[in-house]
Amino acid sequence: MSIIHYLRLAAATMLALIGLAQPAAAHEHPMSFDEMIEALGWDFDATPITTEQVGDNLYVLFGVGGNIAVSVGKDGVLIVDDQHPAMIPKVAEAIAGLGGGAVDFVVNSHWHFDHADGNIALGEQGAWIISQINSRRMNRVDRSINLVGVGTYVQQAYPPHALADITFNDLMQLHFNGERVDLLHFGPAHTSGDTATIFRGHNAVHFGDVFNAGYPFIDVDNGGSLDGMIAFCSAVLAQIDTDTVVIPGHGPVSTYADLEAYIEMLSAVRERVAALIAEGKSLEQVVAAEPTKEFDQRYGSPASLLDRAYASLGGAGG
Ligand SMILES: [Zn+2]
Ligand SMILES: [Zn+2]
Repeated sequence: MSIIHYLRLAAATMLALIGLAQPAAAHEHPMSFDEMIEALGWDFDATPITTEQVGDNLYVLFGVGGNIAVSVGKDGVLIVDDQHPAMIPKVAEAIAGLGGGAVDFVVNSHWHFDHADGNIALGEQGAWIISQINSRRMNRVDRSINLVGVGTYVQQAYPPHALADITFNDLMQLHFNGERVDLLHFGPAHTSGDTATIFRGHNAVHFGDVFNAGYPFIDVDNGGSLDGMIAFCSAVLAQIDTDTVVIPGHGPVSTYADLEAYIEMLSAVRERVAALIAEGKSLEQVVAAEPTKEFDQRYGSPASLLDRAYASLGGAGG
């Protein structure tokens, strides 16, 4: 598969998740899983796993859902995020193609279905699942996710075997395949349980959905916040350097400069939306003021970001 094709797939997945690929549908009631994947344009059967090498033994897999980082080496296989059970056979095939065997460790960047549902298959197969402590808590109960412009999806509680076996609060370090792997949590951001995974030997970081190639979705109803997104990204930026490979939750592999630009964008939008809220503007008035205008060409439609930014900054409602 060509690079263009998989970038297109990755972009489609990302855009779909933040509500751009389909016209806004007024779902009064929570969507079923099947309704949601139809609205997102997902097709587990038709979508292959494609692989991009980003280091000696570090790879990114693209499929349906969040990007998967894979470390393959003498200690075994560690992955960050696992998409969906229907994709796991294809993920396993891709890992076998890289010389790896069964997955030993799964790090969940966070608990959202498009990053962690694969736990249901991998937990059963004996992989050790690791997450930030709040992320595991979220997976233990049904959680309603407001996918702005797409609908509301109630992510069901995971069965015990799909819950994290090992949790941490702010920092965990693994020494695996010849490098130190830092799992870092810097407070609420995209959700309340996000992890950035830094592969120190490879100088690469997997961000989960705190950093996306397009405008982010902020799960404000589940502890996320715009200020938290900016703080989290800035904290990771301080941990890496200009050569670091930056793997977003969705979209193509990116750079330090991309992350820097993203933080500047979020900070500018935050200031503008906060000022408009202080003037008593409604959400509709904030949208009409186009506070993201010069960024839209790069990041896409701001509808979801503005809706969640408004909620996050305490806007009164439209
Ligand atoms: Zn995601
Ligand atoms: Zn997410």
